[in-house]
Amino acid sequence: MNASRKIVVASRNPGKVRELAQVLAGLGVLLVGLDEIDPEERIAQAPEDAASFADNARSKAVHYARALGLWALADDSGLEVDALGGAPGVRSARYAADECPAHADRAQRDAANNRKLLRALAGIARDRRTARFVCHLAVSDGRDILVEATGTLEGLIATEPAGQNGFGYDPLFFLPAMGCTAAQLPPERKNAISHRGQAARKLAERLKALLHGAGQREGPASWPR
Ligand code: IMP
Repeated sequence: MNASRKIVVASRNPGKVRELAQVLAGLGVLLVGLDEIDPEERIAQAPEDAASFADNARSKAVHYARALGLWALADDSGLEVDALGGAPGVRSARYAADECPAHADRAQRDAANNRKLLRALAGIARDRRTARFVCHLAVSDGRDILVEATGTLEGLIATEPAGQNGFGYDPLFFLPAMGCTAAQLPPERKNAISHRGQAARKLAERLKALLHGAGQREGPASWPR
């Protein structure tokens, strides 16, 4: 195994970097966040305007790997609501941007997104409020996508928010098997089932195979999702 392989996590969210570092611990890779490696934010932000989570994650990974000359691990995630034709989808973070002041912080943006989602689903019956969180992770060396993985978490959009944990749409994301929203779960229980946790565990296996040389490197199209 290449014990000194350094991988930059293409995120300035310390929570995400920590979560990924936990799942990828033991692989002999050193994960560093973007803030650690580029504290002054000199590197231009990657475009996030693709039509799928997978394409956004791939282009972010290639962008940061090229800019830094290191392997880069990028993610893209969001919420797909069936009754809304898959919206907010890749626009999840910015769903209610037109209803928020430009300087709104993350909590204000999340609250506006949740209000807009409840309005969009007003009058829709429980059995038609099906939705899923999706997360796609991709690792690039600046030229190719070396490994990638997707995770999903199925649920229902509740009619009112509940719970204080998590972020984003968690207070509205009801998990029928658990009888509560994602925001009512302690973080470790959410990580154990979440789209991001699932994708990270799959990615860890694939990365391990790549670093150990067990898996022959293949092009992105032939990697299982
Ligand atoms: P990003 O992957 O950080 O760009 O997140 C995209 C957006 O999707 C977030 O701003 C949230 O609105 C939503 N989202 C992604 N994952 C989750 C989650 O685990 N819980 C709640 N909302 C999420």
